[in-house]
Amino acid sequence: MADNTSVLVVEDEPAIVELVKYSLREAGWDIRTADTANGAWDSISHGKPDLVLLDWMLPDQSGLRLLSRLRADRDFQEIPVIMLTAKSMEEDKLAGLNTGADDYVTKPFSPRELLARSRALLRRKSPHLSEAPLRAGSVVLDPNSCTVSVDNAQIEIGNAEYKLLKFMLAHRERVFSRAQLLDKVWGDHAVIEERTVDVHVLRLRKALKSADGLIRTVRSVGYMLSEK
Ligand code: CA
Repeated sequence: MADNTSVLVVEDEPAIVELVKYSLREAGWDIRTADTANGAWDSISHGKPDLVLLDWMLPDQSGLRLLSRLRADRDFQEIPVIMLTAKSMEEDKLAGLNTGADDYVTKPFSPRELLARSRALLRRKSPHLSEAPLRAGSVVLDPNSCTVSVDNAQIEIGNAEYKLLKFMLAHRERVFSRAQLLDKVWGDHAVIEERTVDVHVLRLRKALKSADGLIRTVRSVGYMLSEK
């Protein structure tokens, strides 16, 4: 199974939402967003996320109110929650933690810090999510040791190919264009051309040896990882 860890970002400032998405991109998680507390409740009711990143100040009601609503609900009380707060006053942090936040990150936060805290919380609360190896056929990618094996033998793989494989394992049976792969795997800030994707796919197939058929070329569209 793919690691479909889902994260709900509840935040009304578009710039912060983008920063959070950017921060978590590397993890390959599915990111959902809501810009109000009520919108967040709807989203959670339709599908329980594995992690909620919750802004303190929302247009309709405070993030703290939403948090206490979650903690009072039998179905949702276990969802890990990190509060995003511009407030650095000790009493506000305490209010969040007393209401049941698992952690808090004070804005402005660094992308690295947010990702590290999110990973740490998921490891603590849902070890099956963050530590699970990704498998397809004879290929196993272990996110903990950042290693890949084929038929139980560890292979040599470059950093770019590792990231590409990890993304494709998490989103298997889906076709991605070169532009999408550039965006999802390398990020908006990468100064590489679409042709570079072809180079990395070639290297990845070479590294995968007998399992190279997993990475399919979909003519005039892009690439997909498929076991079929
Ligand atoms: Ca806000």
